[in-house]
Amino acid sequence: MFKSTAIIKDQIMPTKEDVLQHVIETGSLPTLSTVASTLINITGKEETTIYDISKLIAQDVSLSSKILKVVNSSFYNFPNEVGTIQQAVTILGTNAVRSLVLSFSFLNMERPQHGAGFNYGRFWEESLAAAVASKLIMAKVSDQDPEEAFTVSLLQNLGKLILACAYRETYDQLLEEAAGSEKRLLELEDERIGANHAYIGGEAAKHWNFPDSLSIPIIHHHNPDGYRGDDADLKTEIRVVHLAALLANIMYSGNPIDYHGSFRERAQKMFKLEAASIDEILEQANKDVAKAANYFGLNIEGTASIPEILQQANIELSLLNMSYEQINRELVQSKMQLEKLTSELEEKNSYLEEIANLDGLTQIYNHRYFQESLDKEISRSIRQENELGLILADIDNFKKFNDFYGHQAGDYVLKEVASLCGGVIREYDLIARYGGEEFVFILPETNQADALIVAEKIRSAIEQHPFNYEGEDYRVTSSFGVAIFPGAGKPMKKTELIERADKALYTAKKKGRNRVEVYAEKSGWFGKPK
Ligand code: GH3
Ligand code: MG
Ligand code: MG
Repeated sequence: MFKSTAIIKDQIMPTKEDVLQHVIETGSLPTLSTVASTLINITGKEETTIYDISKLIAQDVSLSSKILKVVNSSFYNFPNEVGTIQQAVTILGTNAVRSLVLSFSFLNMERPQHGAGFNYGRFWEESLAAAVASKLIMAKVSDQDPEEAFTVSLLQNLGKLILACAYRETYDQLLEEAAGSEKRLLELEDERIGANHAYIGGEAAKHWNFPDSLSIPIIHHHNPDGYRGDDADLKTEIRVVHLAALLANIMYSGNPIDYHGSFRERAQKMFKLEAASIDEILEQANKDVAKAANYFGLNIEGTASIPEILQQANIELSLLNMSYEQINRELVQSKMQLEKLTSELEEKNSYLEEIANLDGLTQIYNHRYFQESLDKEISRSIRQENELGLILADIDNFKKFNDFYGHQAGDYVLKEVASLCGGVIREYDLIARYGGEEFVFILPETNQADALIVAEKIRSAIEQHPFNYEGEDYRVTSSFGVAIFPGAGKPMKKTELIERADKALYTAKKKGRNRVEVYAEKSGWFGKPK
């Protein structure tokens, strides 16, 4: 009898029956819930009625409510609410309900002890993914009830759980060596332990008195051709379960590309499944896994969709296959592209900044930008001890102009005044729209005499300009208020400077418009300098 969990080289290899015996003796076989095992026994007997089954399940209140929750979920899509277990058994049939009970029993099994390498959470998730895939595939290939395929797929890797429990560290090592390859894992299990998980899982199912429709597909889930019987439904089920296992491997093995290839090839060969149908299954799988996890009360990590998993794997593969020089070239190209994008972005950003500073109608600077600029110019003026000129301009009787000729002609005049003034001032002077029909000019390094000259030039340019709008010539005049920031000596606040220009402008208006006034601190108001 083989009893040690450590397998010593050169020791006579145990037979698979020995391994099974060992598993049973070490208590590595999980126990089924009483309801589940009784249910298996009674559903095998002919005299059992729907009532017997319902009564048995109804004894377990928590199980009953879980079953009703799943039965009423979009997992089944029944048009009417199923209210009792008896209804559920009548509608779904004995086999389907038995499958559900087994699924719950399996998912709620007490967690056995395992070696450190066995990821329990991952195991449930992968099992559930295979189960969901079975349902999806069965729906595409046959009218057969998908419930049993669902349960078989859920239980197909039960053997792994059992072996991991019986052989702990040895099994961890096998899992690590197999590195996600199921085929390699089976070989290693046979070589190092003496039996593989498909056999052990199938035998465990027999041990629990599972019907053939459940235990046989578990045994053959890796090798569907190994089934030699002539039960067509069972054959279909075995194949579906096999394909579902491949699909779960696409999602969880870490080697999605190979399993994807096998899945497509075998789905085509076994069921003549067309590419579009295969794609539908692949796209749906991860969504259905998440849903099913919810219905069965499982907390899962969840995966990306299979198309996403494959896309990422392909990118990784293409990087792996590149030479160092190639990777280098691609990196240089990517960097160049990134730099190009960055400079385009900078350009766009500075454009956005620029238009954020502009007045929408006249396309000269707006009030906010004027205020910021004046702050800067005042600081500079203090630093360099230079005088700074400020001119406020206001179009005369513009309200009447609008009233007579319409707002659109008014807008045209505002635009024209803006561009006209822009042409009169120096390059480093600034013009902005102060408000409605008011403009403001900042003249750095400018004393009072020069500022008055500039204001006068602007005044006369506007006065003489024929504003031609839609074939008509219009004339407008404007009034100007000038103030000077002293630069050296007693500092002046920005608001004070603006206020002085405003006062001077008010005087110009009062004195009859179309004129320039300057604010003078000591001697009061200066007249129009001419
Ligand atoms: P004053 O000579 O005393 O400055 O008289 P005014 O009529 O020019 O001054 P008031 O402040 O009474 O009216 C300003 C007018 O400017 C009223 C408003 O319709 C016009 N205005 C302000 N912004 C715009 C604009 O964007 N487009 C047009 N078309 N008119 C505007
Ligand atoms: Mg005004
Ligand atoms: Mg005005």
